[in-house]
This record gives sequence, structure tokens and C-alpha cells, in this order.
Amino acid sequence: MQPTGTGALHLGNLEGALRTWIRLQNEYEMFCCIVDWHALTTRYQEADQIAPASREVAANYIASGLDPKKCAIFLQSHVKQHAELHLLLSMVTPLGWLERVPTFKEKRELMQKRGGGDDSISYGLLGYPCLQAADILAYRANAVPVGKDQAAHLELTREICRRFNHLYGEVFPEPQALIDETTGVLPGLDGRKMSKSYENAIYLSDPPEVVEEKVKSAFTTITKLRKTDPGIPETCAVCQLRRIYDPQGYLPSWEEDREGLRGCMQNKRELADILNAVLDPIRKRRAELLNDPAELERILKDGAERARAAAEETMQVVRAAMGLR
Ligand code: ADP
Repeated sequence: MQPTGTGALHLGNLEGALRTWIRLQNEYEMFCCIVDWHALTTRYQEADQIAPASREVAANYIASGLDPKKCAIFLQSHVKQHAELHLLLSMVTPLGWLERVPTFKEKRELMQKRGGGDDSISYGLLGYPCLQAADILAYRANAVPVGKDQAAHLELTREICRRFNHLYGEVFPEPQALIDETTGVLPGLDGRKMSKSYENAIYLSDPPEVVEEKVKSAFTTITKLRKTDPGIPETCAVCQLRRIYDPQGYLPSWEEDREGLRGCMQNKRELADILNAVLDPIRKRRAELLNDPAELERILKDGAERARAAAEETMQVVRAAMGLR
């Protein structure tokens, strides 16, 4: 994940990505890279915010259950091999491939909306997919956990991988997408996808009273004005969140809602309690980690050392394959 903004993670990040990684750390040798160089591709004018945001992301990872003993948790900028591999991959990646990436076009529009002219679109932003390929190929990764919407990003890495192997010999395995569809897209308070850009998110760092306030303001059923009006749980953000966080108990509440037997306030109070019970241990662990910066730095340093050892091994193979000595 990119450490943008404050680095705070929300429930969508937890359910859509972190939960899967927490499971995978027991099945794979896993490298969890916080991509701070990537954050610079669009945020180079706020460069000083990236280091604290990276620590916040790391604290959220660990507080949610990623175990630094099981997987390497580190910052991209601490492992310089990513930069070297990015440079070498950039030599073999056709310009047209990068120009055709849909997210490049979207990001270019976003930068322009923020008031930047053509000069705000950097060479680094165009090369983003090459850096992403380096992040993956540096570990000769067999698999990458991605959301369904991100499978296309991995496709370019696979193309770069094939091209490199074709030119210099079979150095990299082609990484496969591990797509987890258990949760799907988590809705935000307004019913759209939960996202930090929509201001509809509940953050892992939100204190209990903020969670209550946010849930109180959530979108339910537009035609339900009184408690006795029937609700439509399928389109109600509160009911949908309850389905995810109360898998055993949500059905009766949905039936009551459908029949006009329960009010939105009751539903919201119950959801806030359920969410606070999930978030309590995460908030506690996150606060402990952020209160002990030396321990967090130790974890990141250890993660970077393990990642560096694996990436350097790859780089020796890459340099030899390309005849660089
Ligand atoms: P945001 O939309 O808040 O900027 P990111 O794009 O940084 O979130 O997403 C980081 C990770 O979290 C990605 O793997 C993405 O698929 C996952 N993710 C983000 N929002 C959601 C959501 N609402 N539901 C499920 N997964 C999500």
C-alpha cells in the first residue's frame, strides 16, 4: 500500500486486503512492502509527509495481525535493489506499454485537477508500473495478492517479466494474481465503495465515539422515514456492514428491517457496538506501537534486512544475465 495522506487505513483496506495477507503469511514466505517511493509519483510536493505516513501504515498492519516474525514488513526506500531493478526494467519496457496504462491517464487528470499543469506529470509517474514490476520481481515472487480491480496492474508486470526473460534468459517466474473475493467491495457510509478519497470511511484509528457518530450519519434506505417503514437491506450501508461484521447474526436483523420491525437507530447502535468490538484490540495495539517509535523502527529495519538479502540475491542473477560486471 502507498503511504499517502496521514497513512491511516480504513475498514475497506482491512477487509479487502489486510485480512487476506494475514491469512497468507501462514502459507507463504511473504514480503509486505510499504511503497513510499510510489507515493512520491503524485505527492512529491508533500514529500515530508511520507515518512510519518509510512510508520502509520506499518503500525496498522501489525495492529491488524500481520506478524513481523512471519513476514518481512519494510519500506521500499530502505531496499535500494528496487531502484536498481526499476532502472534495468525501464530499459526493456516499451514506452507505449506505459502510455496505455489506464491509471496513468486517470492520475494525469487528477494531477491537472489539483491545479498542476503539464509540468506536474513526472517521468516517475509514467514509470510507476516499472517500479511496481521491480517491487514484485525483486523477490522472484510466484504470487501477488491483489483485489479484483487490480488484476490488470499485475498483467503489465507479467508482460515486462516475459520480455526480460525472452531477452536475457529465464530469470523471473511469472507472478500469478491471488484474487480473494471473500469480502468484495466494502461499502462506505454513503453506500459507495469505502475510500479515503470519498470521505466515507471508518478508520482503524477512529476512537469509539467517532465510530458511533460516523455510523449514526450513515446512509440507510431513502424511502424509510419512520421506524415502521420497510427497509431494503441490500442497498443499506449499515445492513451491508453488519452482514460482514456479524456473519452469524445479521439475517434476523435484516428480516426485521425488511418488515419494518426495527428502526435505523437501533441498527446503527448495534453496528457501532459490533465495529467497536472489532476495532478495540486494533486501536490498542496501534497506539502501543506508535508510542514506542524505537520498536517500530527496529521492526522495519529487520524487515528491510530480510527483504534486502532476498532482493540482492535476485540482483546478482539479473546482473549476470545481462552481462553487467
Ligand atoms: P483508497 O480507495 O482508500 O485510496 P487504496 O486504493 O489505497 O484505498 O487501497 C489499498 C488496498 O485496499 C487495495 O488492495 C484495495 O483493493 C483495498 N481496498 C480499498 N478500499 C476497499 C474497499 N472499500 N473494499 C475492499 N477493499 C478495498
